[in-house]
Amino acid sequence: MLHIVHHPDYLTPPPPSGGFPASKYHLLMDALDRLPVPQACHRPKPMPRQWLEAVHDPAYVGEVLAATVPRDKERRIGFPVTPAVSRRAQLTPGGTYLAARLAIDHGYAANTAGGSHHALHETGAGYCVFNDLALAAHRLLAEGAVRRILIVDLDVHQGDGTASLLAGREDVATYSVHAARNFPARKARSTLDVPLPDGAGDEAYLNALITTLPPLIDRVRPELILYQAGVDPHTEDKLGRLSLSDAGLAARDRTVATFARTHGIPIASTPGGGYGADKALIAERHARTIEVLYRTMIEA
Ligand SMILES: [Zn+2]
Repeated sequence: MLHIVHHPDYLTPPPPSGGFPASKYHLLMDALDRLPVPQACHRPKPMPRQWLEAVHDPAYVGEVLAATVPRDKERRIGFPVTPAVSRRAQLTPGGTYLAARLAIDHGYAANTAGGSHHALHETGAGYCVFNDLALAAHRLLAEGAVRRILIVDLDVHQGDGTASLLAGREDVATYSVHAARNFPARKARSTLDVPLPDGAGDEAYLNALITTLPPLIDRVRPELILYQAGVDPHTEDKLGRLSLSDAGLAARDRTVATFARTHGIPIASTPGGGYGADKALIAERHARTIEVLYRTMIEA
């Protein structure tokens, strides 16, 4: 059974300025409906304010909850934080948390939103309002659901917000494979960063993954992996600088899932980035990632 976490309020009307592909989330649900695997859909609750304030600046949390985020922060985020966007920002980390709880019970679960890895302590940034990965990790560890978490971030952009929010912690490690010259210009320091040159293709990418991830898993011994499975390393992605093919992306996901499964580590995935004019194609890429993770974790 494929466990999907979704909420109808993940889907907000797209901002008039465009840019952020809100509608890809509608199309992702359509693409998941077409997958020939048995599915159970779970509806998350919003992340409670106390947990939001444990990771983000309470003043910023208050601004988002009241939909009164100042203009300069909205510019960093990339869109206005309307009441609908505020609700989605609270539901998304609730969804990543629920997906992690389901993964612990079933081996794998997917949130259909999230991977908001650029959100920082006092502000959102780069299309991210609250950092669902850091929020879910902090809450799961505080509740004793697991003792150690590894955040595997394979979005083409560095997981700078996640790295800085969780820096110095012994119980959670961050791993980011990204295009060195892509956003953000100023990188944070993950537990392990693997920057790649522009144009790195399937072979270089997979080689980097295969040589760096297993030693980190051996060192950290995580009891859960939160996977930011951005599809923007794809060669046709509008904001990517790497050159992964469809087969390369699938091999990436199969590699992560195989390492996890071999060590008995559950995975909760979030879609992360994926950009382009053809939103249906982007949604298909996200759905394919979920299918590969499911088949490798559960069916293989
Ligand atoms: Zn990205």
